[in-house]
Amino acid sequence: MTKKDYIKQLERIATLLELSGENPFKISAYRKAAANLETFQGDINALSDFTEIKGIGKGVAEVLEDIRLHQESSLLKSLKEQIPEGLIHMLKIRNLGAKKIVKINDALGITTIDELKNACINNEISALPGFGKKSEENILVSIDEMLTMTEKLSIYQVHQFTEMINNGLEEIEAINRYSVTGSFRRRNEYSKDIDYIVETNQRDIVKAQLTALPFIKKVELAGDEKVTIQVAKDDVVTTVDFRFTDASNYAHMLQHFTGSKEHNIRIRQLAKERNEKVSEYGITTSDGNIIQLKREADIYNHFNRPYIPPEMRHDGSEFDFDNFNQIIKNDDIRGDIHMHTTYSDGAHTIEQMIEACIAKGYEYMMITDHSKSLFVANGLSEERLLEQNERIKELNRQYKEIDIYSGVEMDILADGEMDYSNDVLSQLDYCIGAIHQSLNQSEAEIMKRLINACENPYVRHIAHPTGRLIGRRHGYNVNMAQLIEIAQNTNTVLEINAHPMRLDLSSEILKQYPDLKLVINTDAHAIQQLDLMKYGVSTAIKGYVKKEQVINTLSREAFKSWIQNGK
Ligand SMILES: [Zn+2]
Ligand SMILES: [Zn+2]
Repeated sequence: MTKKDYIKQLERIATLLELSGENPFKISAYRKAAANLETFQGDINALSDFTEIKGIGKGVAEVLEDIRLHQESSLLKSLKEQIPEGLIHMLKIRNLGAKKIVKINDALGITTIDELKNACINNEISALPGFGKKSEENILVSIDEMLTMTEKLSIYQVHQFTEMINNGLEEIEAINRYSVTGSFRRRNEYSKDIDYIVETNQRDIVKAQLTALPFIKKVELAGDEKVTIQVAKDDVVTTVDFRFTDASNYAHMLQHFTGSKEHNIRIRQLAKERNEKVSEYGITTSDGNIIQLKREADIYNHFNRPYIPPEMRHDGSEFDFDNFNQIIKNDDIRGDIHMHTTYSDGAHTIEQMIEACIAKGYEYMMITDHSKSLFVANGLSEERLLEQNERIKELNRQYKEIDIYSGVEMDILADGEMDYSNDVLSQLDYCIGAIHQSLNQSEAEIMKRLINACENPYVRHIAHPTGRLIGRRHGYNVNMAQLIEIAQNTNTVLEINAHPMRLDLSSEILKQYPDLKLVINTDAHAIQQLDLMKYGVSTAIKGYVKKEQVINTLSREAFKSWIQNGK
């Protein structure tokens, strides 16, 4: 259990207590405890008693102990059982917090999103004290936004499901190999369901073990060709198909079920031109023989085409592209330059992050904690920032195998000012500018902030440039063409934030602007999240990004001079 895990549960408890109408003192005790835990610098797992942390009383300490022993707090569990599911779902509606939900529930007895939607349409919400016409409209818009966004699974949700499923498949010895296919393998931002292919010589055994995996909610089909199950995680349910294959046609199954539909139409046309047929079982030649190739790449090569990465298999136009060797790959990445530590809201210390980056084989890395105005993330005061800066420089002298740079992810404030003075920034190696607050401003206000950041001599890169969260919120009002122009003119780099909740910039934008200078970063808040780099690279591949566009593909020496040369 990391500090983050504890904080999350405390915050969830506070929110659910609020939903159940508990008294404000009790609720704020949990909120305050979460905030105190956030600023706690020591090793949480080494504590014998949680009351040792400043501001944590006996009651909350008991809850924390319960989490330490049982992973999930029993208080949280019972709250989840008591409160109507619909009210908990309503928390996902933008512009609607627990307090308002309680008011609506008390006054109108509404417990589902459908009922809430109808009440908005019938003007029952604007009739309540404290809710105007405007807030009723906002709720309605947010409901529609949420419903369209949650119709499908977001890539982050699929990522979480596949991690869980992969762990299950790893345990089944009779499986020789397996792969996820479909839209998730193509790294689409949304998927309808999840598809796997599974190679085995013992289908009956695999079938029995597959349908007995602990996280399965329901078995829909257990056939000899295919098993279909429903899995649930938190309150999300999805369907997963497992198709059985033999070793001989594995590559063909993989290619076929990865799609896309339009991509496979082009493959079938290529086959037709040669009087051949292509299917999930292999290639039928003009004389009726079936060829079964070993690797997916062999299939493309058979049709005199270079291998097309799954991310690029889209509308068929990828067959007309030639320069696949210029497109970025996972092993081109030499460092990660946006990550957090326990100094702000990260789960691991600077040293732990360094060890993890070394283990990944990185040549350089950058520590970029949050700045002082981001209170919710325990942002660093000037004093703490400069103290951290010294600490990082000292560690950089100690570790020979990696260059460790000292940076910051600085808030671009609502009025367009920067969170630190240039005097402070000049003492660091690097500064990332980021918008985290006042996201609902007009385009003019947002652009003023972004332009100021780009024009600042120390802001080298803009984090998650649109601020979107896939499946949860659209970004703020960015004029992308204008941002890109100003970024290019000021030598400011834009980020592909690799976290599958963000993927920001998106592959669509990347494809539109082929000459952008970029960095791909995980924005890791824990060592495990450093592994999410592959989603950033996939987004880049999907957006036809070339290796030469990406700064963190530079060699150790070249990156060093890039840092030293400034903007
Ligand atoms: Zn950020
Ligand atoms: Zn960050």
